Amino acid sequence: MYQSFIGLEVHIHLLTKTKVFCRCRSAFGDEPNTNVCPVCMGYPGVLPTLNLEAMRMGCIVARALNCTIPERTWFERKQYFYPDMTKNYQISQFASPLGQRGCLELEGSGTDGTPIKKKVRIKECHLEEDAGKMIHTGTVSLLDYNRAGVSLLEIVTEPDMETGEEAEFFIQQLRRMVRYLEVCDGNMEEGSLRADANVSINLPGQGLGKKVEIKNLNSSRFVRLGLNYEIRRQTELLNAGRTVVQETRLWNENRDETVPMRQKENAQDYRYFPEPDLPVFCPDPAFLASVDRGLVELPPARLKRLTAEYAITEEQAGLICDEKTAADYFEAAVKAAAAPAEKALAKKDAADRIAKWILSDIKHLLHKEGLSGLDSFALSPSRLASLVLMQAQGRLTGKLAKQTLELAAAEDKDPELIVREHHWEQITDPALIAETAREVLAQEKTTAGELQGPGAENEKRRKTLFAYLVGKVLAATGGRADPKIAGEQIQKLLKNPAPPP
Ligand code: ADP
Ligand code: ZN
Ligand code: MG
Repeated sequence: MYQSFIGLEVHIHLLTKTKVFCRCRSAFGDEPNTNVCPVCMGYPGVLPTLNLEAMRMGCIVARALNCTIPERTWFERKQYFYPDMTKNYQISQFASPLGQRGCLELEGSGTDGTPIKKKVRIKECHLEEDAGKMIHTGTVSLLDYNRAGVSLLEIVTEPDMETGEEAEFFIQQLRRMVRYLEVCDGNMEEGSLRADANVSINLPGQGLGKKVEIKNLNSSRFVRLGLNYEIRRQTELLNAGRTVVQETRLWNENRDETVPMRQKENAQDYRYFPEPDLPVFCPDPAFLASVDRGLVELPPARLKRLTAEYAITEEQAGLICDEKTAADYFEAAVKAAAAPAEKALAKKDAADRIAKWILSDIKHLLHKEGLSGLDSFALSPSRLASLVLMQAQGRLTGKLAKQTLELAAAEDKDPELIVREHHWEQITDPALIAETAREVLAQEKTTAGELQGPGAENEKRRKTLFAYLVGKVLAATGGRADPKIAGEQIQKLLKNPAPPP
């Protein structure tokens, strides 16, 4: 009966090598307080200088979110007192952020299976510096300023979402997007992407309600759970004739509920004023061109293209497009396998085979080796293509193809070479296979006899026995015999056993 409104503020760490206003290294997990200098420690009299790469990456995200980049963008000081920020103010953007009024189209389905199709307006994207990290242990709090001054882009949406599932989907889609753009690693556990979720409810037609902000959510699942919990809590309050207190809350993952943190401050409290130490930034054509060069085909568009161009299923395309490295690898491998050559495969045939390799055996192999993605996989796309070709030409059984894949990846070697060295080429010569089959039948007299006798009426039993014999033939050839031909030869021999020599 109530309408709900959800707006997100997502913070992403930009993958700049150095911090946003000084030259300190920007990295996660270094020894505490080693990546610091007078600028990011806020010593008096030091001057910040803008890291242009941070500005460029921020503008790339802004453009990907269909935002306008203003002709003039600048920085403000956001005043607050807290030990994680030694200057007592954070350099941020307020009046003219680098990205303004954009949108992101959500299309897909939520974790609960309901379809999602919605255009979420983006209010703005602004560049700022991150604060240090506080670690609370018992009665003391420790401070690590390595993160202080790290480039942070904040993306603020309008309150256009309505369910936890939509907000979760937004985060997932945004995460995939920034990874595609190679401006953020999207690692939520390490805090490279964190979200504050704002939510209010109201009677339909009454506009926005009193908003509650759930701060510092470091997983998209918590965004969903926290928001859905809040919608329930606020509904119960209103139903009981009470009011919602405008406040900041935290998600308690052990108790699966939000708990109050503080009453909400408002913008006035921060006393924003222009940062006098940084000039206004006016993007020139060369800068804007460098932003354009950073824009790549994004997942939703790529998914549609891959489905149409390669005739793979939407599910396959969805999985492949999850990671840009996988989509790039897939397209490169198909191109190699379908390259105009005598034995090239039809593009769709190649695509189908390669998609299957990537989504099963290669995926398992990456997992086994603890590799994060196909960019760190030793087997190049063209070598996968040559493996796929051998298999398509009937020169390699499925099982040996898998073994070849593993070796090719481990030894960084041409699959053709591996197959030749190990004599793994599939045996397809019926006469040769018949010879082995004859030997097997001579050894497996009982089984052969049962198959030929009256007991063979039981279909299931017959199949088991038959498969057993085929297995024996394959084993005797080191797995190289074509299983289909082996079956045919056994069948022939059973009807017509070989005359004694
Ligand atoms: P503040 O000044 O309190 O930070 P903003 O206007 O900057 O508020 O909005 C912060 C986020 O909260 C935005 O994502 C916005 O969409 C969302 N938001 C603002 N008001 C509401 C509301 N009443 N209900 C739900 N979300 C809201
Ligand atoms: Zn520094
Ligand atoms: Mg705000």
